[in-house]
Amino acid sequence: MSQISVSLLTERMESLGLTSMAASFESYLGHPARHEQPLVEAIADLLETESIPRAERKARMRLKLSGIPQEKGLDEFDLDWLQGGLSKKTFAELSSLAFIDRRENVVLMGPSGLGKTHLLLALGAKACREGYTAYYITAMDLLERLSRAREQGKLKSRLKWFCKPHLLLMDEVGYQNLTPEQATLFFQLVNARYESGSIIMTTNKTFGKWGEIMADDAVATATLDRLLHHVHIVSLQGDSYRMKDRMKLGVVDFL
Ligand code: ADP
Ligand code: MG
Repeated sequence: MSQISVSLLTERMESLGLTSMAASFESYLGHPARHEQPLVEAIADLLETESIPRAERKARMRLKLSGIPQEKGLDEFDLDWLQGGLSKKTFAELSSLAFIDRRENVVLMGPSGLGKTHLLLALGAKACREGYTAYYITAMDLLERLSRAREQGKLKSRLKWFCKPHLLLMDEVGYQNLTPEQATLFFQLVNARYESGSIIMTTNKTFGKWGEIMADDAVATATLDRLLHHVHIVSLQGDSYRMKDRMKLGVVDFL
């Protein structure tokens, strides 16, 4: 192929918005393995030079928009450190993300340092990489946003906004008791997402304490009723993982 037609084709690609393809087209044509390839394979490879970076860009954008504060990996999670509550089978099931398409919720429960937030962030990041939209927020920030929206007469649209992502990542539920107004807002959010989109939440409280947290047994029951209708409950047991790091440093010697 002459130099002129290569540059013409490159220009065409650029004008069609195929920027990655255009950038690698010339070196692709010059690659020795290229000449052995059947035409269909060559076209497939060329399309991949465009589609792979495009998919990566989209995934990075989804990750950015999710507000996930720190990237954690599922492969970094040491299941053996736990003393119960999360079997290999459940871990694999959650990692498959099938719960998102089924619009099921996940409750990650347990004391501090057991990796609840790590799992929440890692599942959220994987979801973003696999084409889902996610949104991370702590329970208190969420309630503040809803409360502000209510004051401005925009609660309905704010609730709708929180229903948009496939996955809502709600961290630190139950760390502080709620006022009756906050409890109602929390119920409204869970109710709005009920059977329409998954929530993963972390909490350090058992469900028995929710009446206390929400200052109202009836609101707590109605919230749990919806939250737990389709749910995976992971109740983590063991010692704080932070202990492991301290043990390595020799600060803790009794384990
Ligand atoms: P929690 O939210 O339950 O209080 P975090 O998820 O914040 O706990 O975990 C505390 C720290 O320990 C984080 O840096 C996290 O990445 C790490 N961590 C916790 N559990 C594990 C684990 N089982 N494997 C690897 N890292 C872990
Ligand atoms: Mg946490």
